Amino acid sequence: MVTITHAETRDVRFPTSLDKTGSDAMNAAGDYSAAYCILHTDEGITGHGMTFTIGRGNELVCSAISLLASRIRHRTLSSLVSNWGQTWRHLVADSQLRWIGPEKGVIHLALGAVVNALWDLWAKVLKKPVWRIVADMTPEEVVQCIDFRYITDALTPEEAVRILRAAETGKAERKAEAEASRAVPAYTTSAGWLGYNQVKMRSLLEETMGKGYKHFKLKVGGGVEEDRVRLKIAREVIGFDRGNVLMVDANQVWSVPEAIEYMGHLAEFKPWFIEEPTSPDDVLGHAAIRTALKPLNIGVATGEMCQNRVMFKQFLQASAIDVCQIDACRMGGVNEVLAVLLMAAKFNVPIVPHSGGVGLPEYTQHLSTIDYVVVSGKKSVLEYVDHLHEHFFHPSEIKDGYYVTPMEPGYSVEMRPESMDKFSFPGEEGVSWWRSEEAKVILEGEQI
Ligand SMILES: [Mg+2]
Repeated sequence: MVTITHAETRDVRFPTSLDKTGSDAMNAAGDYSAAYCILHTDEGITGHGMTFTIGRGNELVCSAISLLASRIRHRTLSSLVSNWGQTWRHLVADSQLRWIGPEKGVIHLALGAVVNALWDLWAKVLKKPVWRIVADMTPEEVVQCIDFRYITDALTPEEAVRILRAAETGKAERKAEAEASRAVPAYTTSAGWLGYNQVKMRSLLEETMGKGYKHFKLKVGGGVEEDRVRLKIAREVIGFDRGNVLMVDANQVWSVPEAIEYMGHLAEFKPWFIEEPTSPDDVLGHAAIRTALKPLNIGVATGEMCQNRVMFKQFLQASAIDVCQIDACRMGGVNEVLAVLLMAAKFNVPIVPHSGGVGLPEYTQHLSTIDYVVVSGKKSVLEYVDHLHEHFFHPSEIKDGYYVTPMEPGYSVEMRPESMDKFSFPGEEGVSWWRSEEAKVILEGEQI
């Protein structure tokens, strides 16, 4: 009987701001970070979960992880997973902690780390990858993972069972496709960061195209003229009629009318969608942008900062999005993601998870596989950015333009201890990079 004895948190930050990796119109200089949770047990087996942030404030999420994880101390794993929906409700139901959410912001980012650490622990005990646990569940068992409070006006448990039952047709074949690593086609943002110069951008586009990618995403929003130059280069490399797809991402910099006007200037480059055109909370604003851009054949995507299933419910109900970009740890872990996958299936909106930062591709490869095999039955695409994977024991990998389906037990975000030590923040003298001379450029530089 595996029992949780205590939780440990780690504040791990990678100095990605040094080379502008991850730079976009809103986030000029991110240090990709993990607020990390390790659940220790009486049997020595550990569960690993993390939430992604981009630097300052990561310590707040770590504090919140400690507070939430204390709610499952001394609990057996079997009691926690036997009714997952109830466990999830228990984790969000501390009447005092709830005040600093509820179910959003720092406290909810922390919840993602704790819930995902529990899934990792469970998967290791069952000796299965997380996607496989869900793929092996009955429709009723999947539905029992979800807390349906606040969403039954859009999706009832009975409807969810019906969706899952309908998806059982062809499920065995899709499972086999997953096992052959043909379930999740990848797209890349590697070339598209705003801080990269044109030479670097062009060569990265050529390189990624050579690797079999067909979908490419570029950051926009820095200025119409610059963006037109960058998109022109992108189309020169990938073409208009070679089956390659271009997407653009504004990272929330515009107000609603600005988004509509700006995208009018980029329409000739035929992007599939504009991602995060405005505030992530503005459901009706996204709906207005979507309506305005429809005649230009440009879709609207959002979700990486969508804080919970309630917001996603409204985006779907208001017909505000063409693409649903769930994040593995901004929401409350696998369970809440399952709720959104099912709602998106009901509203017939494809899932294209947010997956750029550190650890996210490791997580989302499981979620996209679950969506394809268990929920929607439709192939989509999943973001992949080729950096920082070396810090994980089981890094995600792309082959022939597809994610290699993870087969090792767990949720794939177990980070190497030496990486955690080397990049721990503020870190130990003589051990952490953050105590080195090199780090002073960031620590003593201007905070932008
Ligand atoms: Mg984005």
